[in-house]
Amino acid sequence: MDAVLSVEDLNVTFSGFKALSGVNLNVFDREIVTIIGPNGAGKSTLLDAIVSKSPVSSGHIRYQGKEITNKLPHEVARMGIGRKFQNPNVYNELTVFDNILLALKGTHGILASITAKLTQTKKSKIHDALERTGLVDKAFEQVSSLSHGQKQWVEIAMVLAQDPSIVLLDEPTAGMTGDETYMTGEIIKSISKSHAVVVIEHDMEFVKQIAKRIVVLHQGQVLAEGSIESIQANPKVIEVYLGR
Ligand code: ADP
Ligand code: MG
Repeated sequence: MDAVLSVEDLNVTFSGFKALSGVNLNVFDREIVTIIGPNGAGKSTLLDAIVSKSPVSSGHIRYQGKEITNKLPHEVARMGIGRKFQNPNVYNELTVFDNILLALKGTHGILASITAKLTQTKKSKIHDALERTGLVDKAFEQVSSLSHGQKQWVEIAMVLAQDPSIVLLDEPTAGMTGDETYMTGEIIKSISKSHAVVVIEHDMEFVKQIAKRIVVLHQGQVLAEGSIESIQANPKVIEVYLGR
């Protein structure tokens, strides 16, 4: 089976500083790849490079076999790579439904949501995204009335509504309660039944809940890759996490 996303010998340099060097990563359909690693390891930079938010110095990023290295961010998004950023980025004064509609329609969405008739396709995309994130009951509530965790789910719904085939999530459980974290894990597992998913995470309990395959980044390089058991038993990983 071909990878949905393949990263080959990726290098990202910020004015001389090597944030990523020689990173290889394959992500297959309907799997969850979890990226862990200490602060500053390059985890967010890797997702940034995939969606062209950080410029790639050298190497290749291929999506469904097509080279996407340094394409424009909106082109990458349109091709089917959905990315949720670390900080919630929702309109508090709008309803959950309208936030998702906006994500579907871009900046013209506010006007459209007031004036335009929604096509059945759009409605069903929004409904599907609400269902997958457990937000059907909240659809017509203002986002400001939601908990921090629910706002994060709204953002995941916004990504899903755009119909990506791969979903990239940067620390989706940041700031969540234990229950919300668990629920997020269940949401991610359900998304992986139909999508490839890449998750950056550092809560090891959560990683155990969702992960089949883990990639450990350290100082811009892949330090180890494998099952949770193999990662936890890996001396190089132990050294990085526990200090020497
Ligand atoms: P992580 O997400 O693993 O905590 P990041 O990918 O955010 O780490 O950052 C990796 C390294 O690259 C850090 O040292 C960070 O300071 C640096 N870095 C990230 N983005 C930029 C940027 N836009 N300009 C300069 N340095 C950056
Ligand atoms: Mg980060």
